[in-house]
Amino acid sequence: MNSFKWRLTILCTLALACFPHAAVAQQPVAIDLVTLSAEARIWLTDLLRINTSNPPGNELVAAKYIAAVIEKEGIHTEVIENAPGRGIVIARLSAGAVPDPPRALLLLAHTDVVGVDRSKWSQDPFGGVIKDGYLYGRGAIDDKGPLVANLATFIAIKRSGIKLGRDLIFLAESDEEAGGTGMDFAITHHWDKIAAGFAINEGGRTIMKDGKVLYVAVQASEKVSVNVAVVATGRSGHASIPIKENAVVHLAAAIEKIGNWETPAKPNSITRRYFEELSRVSDPEMAKWMRALDTAERQQQAAKRLSEADPVWSSMLRNSISPTMLEAGIRVNVIPSEARAMLNVRLLPGEPIADLVNDMTKLVNDPQIRIEAEPFNRQPSPPSSLDTDLYRAIEHATQSVFPGAVTIPMMSTWATDSTFLRLHNVECYGVVSFPLTEEEMARMHADNERIPVASIEKAVALIYSSVAEFVKAP
Ligand SMILES: [Zn+2]
Repeated sequence: MNSFKWRLTILCTLALACFPHAAVAQQPVAIDLVTLSAEARIWLTDLLRINTSNPPGNELVAAKYIAAVIEKEGIHTEVIENAPGRGIVIARLSAGAVPDPPRALLLLAHTDVVGVDRSKWSQDPFGGVIKDGYLYGRGAIDDKGPLVANLATFIAIKRSGIKLGRDLIFLAESDEEAGGTGMDFAITHHWDKIAAGFAINEGGRTIMKDGKVLYVAVQASEKVSVNVAVVATGRSGHASIPIKENAVVHLAAAIEKIGNWETPAKPNSITRRYFEELSRVSDPEMAKWMRALDTAERQQQAAKRLSEADPVWSSMLRNSISPTMLEAGIRVNVIPSEARAMLNVRLLPGEPIADLVNDMTKLVNDPQIRIEAEPFNRQPSPPSSLDTDLYRAIEHATQSVFPGAVTIPMMSTWATDSTFLRLHNVECYGVVSFPLTEEEMARMHADNERIPVASIEKAVALIYSSVAEFVKAP
C-alpha cells in the first residue's frame, strides 16, 4: 500500500474511534502521519547525535532532549536522575482522575547504546548522517529508532484528542545495554509512576524481503542468559616435560565436547506458534518442516532440519551454549595448574541450569574438570499471553500498514528489560516496527547501523495504529 492509502486507513481507524465522542469538550483531530514522521526523523537524528555509548551512558542529555519534546506538547514530564549523568524520562496521558494500573499501556525504550569501532564505520556513528536514503547512527535500530516511534505515537495520541479508555505512559530508560540499572531503578523506586498491565518494548522485528514486508515478529518471551565457568585443574610443571594432567589440554578437550554438543530440541508454545505462522510466508519446503514441528512423530526430524537451516532457529529450539572466553597460563614455558573457559548459556524459560550443568558434566566425564554456573540476575519470566486486545491491535495494525504480512509471536534468543516487566505481571510485547531486511537487521550492535529514511513513516504508523486502537475509549 502506498503511504497515502495507509494514512487514510489510520485516519479512518481514528475517525471510528472518535466519532462517538464528538460531543465531548475536546474535539478529536485527525493526525497527519506524514508530517509526524518528518518530525520523528528530526528527533531521531538529534538523538543519534547525542553519544550515549554505554559505558558510561551519559543518557541524561538524551533524557532532557526527550523531555523538552514532550513538554512542548503541554504534557507534564519528569526526568529522574538515577546516577550522575544518567536519567530516565516518564510522562503520562491519563484516561481519568484515578489511575488504573492493570489497564494502562506503557511505551518503553532505552536511550543508551552499545559502543562503536569508529574505524569500521563508513559514516560518523554519532553524526546523524543521511546518505543514499539511509540514516546512519549507533542506536538507529537499537533502540533510538523504536524510542522515537514511541515518542511520536505518544505525542500523536495527545494531539489527536482521542478519548482514552486507559492511561498511556511513556518511559525512556537508561543503562539497558550494560547494567540494567535504569529499569531496576524505575521499577524499584518509581513503580507507582510506570505501573501498567501492558507494555510495548524492543525485541521484535519487521522483516522485509524483495521490497515487501513478510512479517512483524512480536517478542512475547525470551531466553535466559547464564554464564557458566569450566575449570580444569592439574599439576603445574616445566614446559620442557609434558604431562598428561596438563590443565590446558583437559580444558581444550572439554570445550571441544561441549561446543559440538547439540542439546535436545524442546519447542515451547511460543516457538511452535512462531513456526506455524512463519510457514505461511516461507518457501514450501521449509514451510513443510515448520508445520511438522507440531507433529509428535516428525518433531525431532523437523527440529533438525530447521536447526541446520538457521542458527537463530536452532537457538530458539533448545538450551544453547556458546564458549566465549579462555584463560590459562602465566608464562609460555610454564605448565599452568589451572585453565578456565567461560560459556554463555541461553536457557529456555523454565529450564533449570542445574540440569544442564549435570548433563555437561556427564558429557565431559573428566575428574579434572569442574563446571559451575555463575549466579544470574535475570530470573526467567513467564511468556506474555497472545490472547489480549493489545496483541490483536498489533495484528490489526500489521494488516493495515503492511497488507499481506503476518504477525508472528517469537521467543527471542536475546534478553530485554521486558523480563522485569513480565515478572510484574505486565503483558509485554517486543516490536521493532522499522521494516528492514535481514541484512539491515544484522547491523544492530554491529558496524554501520542504519535505517532507511523511508522506513520511519511505516514504523510510526505501526506503533501509532496499534496504540490508538488499544487505548481509545470503547
Ligand atoms: Zn536494545
